[in-house]
Amino acid sequence: MHVNCDCCADTASPHLGRRRLLLGAVGVLAATALPNDVVRAAAPAARTSLSPADALKLMKEGNENFRNEAPSLAANGRERRLELARGQAPFCVLVGCSDSRVSPEILFGRGLGELFIVRNAGNTVDTAALGSIEYAVGVLGVPLVVVLGHQSCGAVAAAVDVVEKNASFPGVIGEMVQPIVPAVLEARSQGGDLLEASVRSNARRVAKRLTTQSLVIKDALTAGKVSVVGARYGLSDGQVEWMEDI
Ligand SMILES: [Zn+2]
Repeated sequence: MHVNCDCCADTASPHLGRRRLLLGAVGVLAATALPNDVVRAAAPAARTSLSPADALKLMKEGNENFRNEAPSLAANGRERRLELARGQAPFCVLVGCSDSRVSPEILFGRGLGELFIVRNAGNTVDTAALGSIEYAVGVLGVPLVVVLGHQSCGAVAAAVDVVEKNASFPGVIGEMVQPIVPAVLEARSQGGDLLEASVRSNARRVAKRLTTQSLVIKDALTAGKVSVVGARYGLSDGQVEWMEDI
């Protein structure tokens, strides 16, 4: 029970619990329907002023610097931390794989507050991921979405094994890689190294689907406020290959 609080006479319905529930409800609304009043209420004071083209240029330059082992210029110090505590204005949504070798901030030489990251094995987009991306684009005003696949992706390899060998996996791993199967089927019809082709196909298809299945992203695209691109990271050479024409 809380001091000076008459709304929670019993401990089964704490004050904070109600507040969290309400805030959570607003969050869900903002991530799905995004009516204008909710967007205005949830939007931070400042958004990035970068255009989609500027944002992509920064990502390309960052990867170039990483490959050349240039000293990182990313601002991660106390001053930057204090600035960010007042609000975030990231310039890129990065949809990437959970693989420990594909850490977005490192690959692109970025610092605190710059990348809004969604990660899971196989860089797919489910409802939680889509809501996160829509929040970044629709509420935070992020001008770029990058869907990043990578060389030798284990999740894509698992989807290849499902297609080629009817493989099964423990727990819900099989269910998790199921959305990658159409990319493998598409890649198989094209010939070449099936795993590599599937990685590219998966990144491109996920990016394309964002542009066709999300009203929030579609609206931002129509207004010229966002770009959505696919990409593929090479584990050995550190290079990101861009798929801008999805
Ligand atoms: Zn992976």
